[in-house]
Amino acid sequence: MNILAIESSCDETSASVLSNGKICSNVVATQLIHTQYGGVVPELASRAHQQHILPVVDKALTDAKVTKKDLDAIAFTKGPGLLGALLVGTSFAKSMALGLGLPLIEVNHMQAHVLAHFIQDPKPEFPFLCLTVSGGHTQIVKITSPLEMEVIGQTRDDAVGEAFDKTAKLLDLPYPGGPLIDKYAKLGDPVAYTFPLPEMPELDFSFSGIKTSFMYFLQKQVRENPNFIQENIADICASVQHTLVNILLKKLKKAAKETGIKEIAIAGGVSANSGLRTSLLELGQQLNWKVYIPDFEYCTDNAAMIAIAAHYKYLNDDFCDQTVSPMARMEF
Ligand code: ATP
Ligand code: MG
Ligand code: FE
Repeated sequence: MNILAIESSCDETSASVLSNGKICSNVVATQLIHTQYGGVVPELASRAHQQHILPVVDKALTDAKVTKKDLDAIAFTKGPGLLGALLVGTSFAKSMALGLGLPLIEVNHMQAHVLAHFIQDPKPEFPFLCLTVSGGHTQIVKITSPLEMEVIGQTRDDAVGEAFDKTAKLLDLPYPGGPLIDKYAKLGDPVAYTFPLPEMPELDFSFSGIKTSFMYFLQKQVRENPNFIQENIADICASVQHTLVNILLKKLKKAAKETGIKEIAIAGGVSANSGLRTSLLELGQQLNWKVYIPDFEYCTDNAAMIAIAAHYKYLNDDFCDQTVSPMARMEF
């Protein structure tokens, strides 16, 4: 059984082929055009998807040594994401399915981030908790089966990835700044500067206040010493990262305690963060958790996670028809 999956929700055009439950190819074209604008420009993202989608799909098929005739279904990201970007992948998948007479499978991008854990071994056991941290979302998800999951906590304002990227922008680092904060943080002192953690009810998060605290702190320091950022970049990045990771882990700890679940996973672009990975492993040892961290390749946006999510839907006969449209906002 061969599934072709297409991801186009933001600034990665990606295609993957899954054969008999195994990922055989995962091609990702990251759009570099946005770097010069300091963030993703939606209209440019749509155009870049249009340019990339054909060669990316072609390469995914070639890499997997699968031809169009061998396909059994076409899967695509329906949402959430940028509407114009999603439209490119959705239209492409629909046309291909129509032309080849194949069934279509719609996939929720955030569920796919979680299901990236089922691409490789070891796989989490049900029920497990997943902290999904990305450019647009921050969620704690309780997963009872591949097709049954529930958001039990989430951000009430900004996503943690956005907090990384916006803080990086204040530090004059290019977009996306998250990976660069991570890089400098490795050389700095995580408690050089301390910031008060936000108090949020239940399992919810907030990152807009802490982002503003970072901004006021930097403005004040720069007034006193115009070279403050250049001279202390490593300590600033380490302290910012330490603060953001602490906010995440505090709530994850609470969720594990309340649910009694000790199978704990992380997913999404920010799960590539080395500070989060290390602190989670330490906390897991302390609290007797079994911790699951995806390979870097499956943290940020990729179509392999769409393919594995589609695999479970295929097994469950969960298909959609040609009237399907993408959705910028999409619940589970
Ligand atoms: P969503 O999945 O919510 O729709 P998205 O698809 O844009 O958003 P991802 O591609 O999953 O998000 O993740 C991108 C985010 O991950 C960016 O904010 C980026 O800065 C962040 N990120 C990637 N690597 C790291 C890292 N090493 N440290 C911190 N943040 C990182
Ligand atoms: Mg991206
Ligand atoms: Fe994503």
